[in-house]
Amino acid sequence: MTSLIFAATCDIAGKVRGKAFPSDQLEKRLTRGVGWTPTNVQITCFDIIAESPFGAFGDLLLIPDKDAGVTATFGENTQRFMLGDIVTLEGAPWSHCTRSVLKSALERLRRVGGVDLLAAFEHEFQLKGENSFAGEAYGRAGFEAQRRLCETLMTQIAGAGLSPDSIMKEYGPNQYEVVIGPEKGVRAADAAVIVRELTRATAEHVGQQATYTPILDPATVGNGVHIHMSFLNLDGTPATHDANGVCGMSALTGSFASGVLKYLDGILAFTAPSVVSYLRLTPHRWSAAFNNLGFRDREASLRVCPVTARDPDSIARQFNIEYRAADAAACPHLALAAIVHAGCQGIEEGLAAPEPTEEDLSLLSMDELADRGFVRLPESLEAALEKMVTNDIVTGWFPVDFTAVYAAHKAAEIGHVADMDATDLCAAYAETY
Ligand code: GLU
Ligand code: MG
Repeated sequence: MTSLIFAATCDIAGKVRGKAFPSDQLEKRLTRGVGWTPTNVQITCFDIIAESPFGAFGDLLLIPDKDAGVTATFGENTQRFMLGDIVTLEGAPWSHCTRSVLKSALERLRRVGGVDLLAAFEHEFQLKGENSFAGEAYGRAGFEAQRRLCETLMTQIAGAGLSPDSIMKEYGPNQYEVVIGPEKGVRAADAAVIVRELTRATAEHVGQQATYTPILDPATVGNGVHIHMSFLNLDGTPATHDANGVCGMSALTGSFASGVLKYLDGILAFTAPSVVSYLRLTPHRWSAAFNNLGFRDREASLRVCPVTARDPDSIARQFNIEYRAADAAACPHLALAAIVHAGCQGIEEGLAAPEPTEEDLSLLSMDELADRGFVRLPESLEAALEKMVTNDIVTGWFPVDFTAVYAAHKAAEIGHVADMDATDLCAAYAETY
């Protein structure tokens, strides 16, 4: 039997697509890759092709990265895939390669902040089928019912070279949460893709179906992706914390956080990129509805996370901020790139650290919100896209035409579900994610 390696990209739709080649060709493929087509970037999560500036023309290469490979064995079945970059035939990064877009955001962070990024994606997902565990929020019985799935998944995550942190029965019906340790730079986004792929494969292996849809049922909570971020100086020392800073943030972290909040409405279409994402981003779901910083507040878009140890070095290393307005319809590379660019913009503009909120912002009037510099985040994907494409600063962070192509992609996705009622809409997204 010929063993195959799947060379993959996580694209604008947040889907993992690619082509497989015989594993004995790996050496050659690490430089020559597999052939790729520009218009593939316009394949939406529903597999319809959005308006494409590339048409039927052009050729690209998808080059697998030897440091982003996974071999996962489930009984008789071995799955092997490698994430990679899309390049032109001349070898330059392709303008619509999500991994390359993230790399350039991380280069900007080095340039303007003198730091590297560590990030950890915390994921919630649900198992499809009857909810046999009403009342099992955080429960042991709910966990034990899926112990095999949880143990298999954590084993696979470790096998992929990542660090399993914790796993639990989350609040929602059949909802679980899986957390991994931080990874540096692009590897953090690769890790998020790997966790999602391994979750689906593990669920299938134990006879279940997992979905990472942003929300399965509007009557309950959504499936969030919370992105924890901290910074390292180039000598590897931690740069996120300052005991005397606002909420313990260093000046750099404070400016980064302010940039994220200032440009949040313009980047939301990247981090919450599906039509159903906006059913999740409503007040009182512990998701995110306003552009505020919370100090240990789980309704804020950005949250300063708790630290547990007393010695200063450990605190400085643990200290991190969490972006909560994301979900798994987003390509992790693109979501992280957008957040990093917004943060860099805050550093470049020399913004002061945001003051944390300690109240329920949904109780304030629009005028009161505006007086204090807060906005209600866009309440639909259309509104979020409008904020993105009309913000020249945001569009300027990306390669020429990137946001226009992205908006056309998302317009086709919106068009596809336009006539669906809420039940059909949630079912369609649960199917694709
Ligand atoms: N399920 C919530 C969300 O959609 C998050 C709950 C939590 O704080 O873990 O983001
Ligand atoms: Mg959670």
